[in-house]
Amino acid sequence: MALKVCKFGGTSMADGHTMTKVKKIIESDPDRRFVVVSAPGKRFSGDTKVTDLLYKCHAELMDHGDCKLAFADVRRRFEGIVKELNLDFDISPVLDDTERRIEEERSEEFTASRGEYLAAVVMARLLGAKFIDAEDVVFFDESGAFESKRSYAAIAAAAEEAPLAVFPGFYGVTPEGRVKTFSRGGSDISGAIVARALGATVYENWTDVSGFLACDPRIVESPRRIKMLSYKELRELSYMGANVLHSESIFPVRKANIPIVIKNTFRPEDDGTSILPIAQYVPSGNIVTGIAGKKNFIVIFIEKSHMNTEVGFVRKVLSVLERFEVSVEHIPSGIDTMSVVVDSSHIDNFKLEQILESIKEAVEPDFMRVSENIALVATVGHGMSSSVGTSARLFKALADAGVNVKMIDQGSSELNIIVGVKNEDMEKCISAIYREFFGNGRN
Ligand code: ADP
Ligand code: ASP
Ligand code: MG
Repeated sequence: MALKVCKFGGTSMADGHTMTKVKKIIESDPDRRFVVVSAPGKRFSGDTKVTDLLYKCHAELMDHGDCKLAFADVRRRFEGIVKELNLDFDISPVLDDTERRIEEERSEEFTASRGEYLAAVVMARLLGAKFIDAEDVVFFDESGAFESKRSYAAIAAAAEEAPLAVFPGFYGVTPEGRVKTFSRGGSDISGAIVARALGATVYENWTDVSGFLACDPRIVESPRRIKMLSYKELRELSYMGANVLHSESIFPVRKANIPIVIKNTFRPEDDGTSILPIAQYVPSGNIVTGIAGKKNFIVIFIEKSHMNTEVGFVRKVLSVLERFEVSVEHIPSGIDTMSVVVDSSHIDNFKLEQILESIKEAVEPDFMRVSENIALVATVGHGMSSSVGTSARLFKALADAGVNVKMIDQGSSELNIIVGVKNEDMEKCISAIYREFFGNGRN
């Protein structure tokens, strides 16, 4: 029998009305036996996600010693949901206990995790399902890394014989017994972990769009849906900003070849997107599969004559970054030039100055320049390797749109072309590439 693990995101969990849709989806297919939920998200534009309310609770707790004001909003959200659902369930003691524990633990990650916890408690009630706390089954090690083996065994043991179970996403527990969260959007990772642990036939990720779109729908109106993506394409696109799925969620399922299907809670009849291992992937015939972009990178451009013959040049530059504990995103290079691209959230001005000084000392470049506020835009697709002239089309489209390209990195896998542009040009850049390959252009 097939076994489906279903993760529902914040918009699917936003209120009683959307949770009723979730219940319908689960009940319409007996294979949908394991459910992973996010905290309630925005109900309308301008609304605040419960997770953000909880970060406010933590800030209030640090300032005032309690979080009464901010927690009152969380309380209202959950009381409203239980009322809308007409559940015969008094959630007040659970909320009282949560507020007490938040004040006791004084931990930002614990506080932030309570949205998923409470959402899963309510969803388990609504479905008449077993509640399995992530605190008991998702483990991190001393270094903060996810401990897969132990977690998979614990999840499988807890789920054994449960006809239907609900897990909260986003968090787990450290060896000291402290709750720890994944990065934002991390319930997608939890869903993948549960799917892997239970040997699911498919990991369904339910959200508010009908699948992975060729680019961000907030940038281009109604972009084309991608029917099928390979794990590799997914990794490139999600890492580069297509946040419909957290970029780390691929790892647990990839090893076991479990397909991911992105579905729309509000249009469950739509096909969605299947994300598959390369062996099951059927090429669409398109050159470009999708485009994604992310802002706020720093590019350090280094020039030195005969750099190519200087043994150890690249290593020396990278050692500097290693010493400052800065990870490198890309290293596009020419014969006498190399650029190092880093995420600006890892570096403040002082650290940047120190890094530049150390690079000067280490390799004595002829010239060095730093560009800040750079956005990276990735154009991704297996089809690009077999088609001639893709870069030419892409760069012509950007030139015609008046987008100034600051950096180019064409990965050797020929799966992607990455361009660096000014932050404020990112949307224009994505739209121009989309128009070229998905508008009237050939793709
Ligand atoms: P959830 O709360 O269900 O986890 P997210 O907000 O994390 O949902 O992700 C869904 C959103 O991702 C969509 O509403 C859309 O605005 C955004 N998005 C960005 N890039 C893409 C893309 N390429 N395809 C689809 N959605 C995208
Ligand atoms: N609730 C968390 C967040 O807002 C995790 C998630 O939704 O996946 O980031
Ligand atoms: Mg998400």
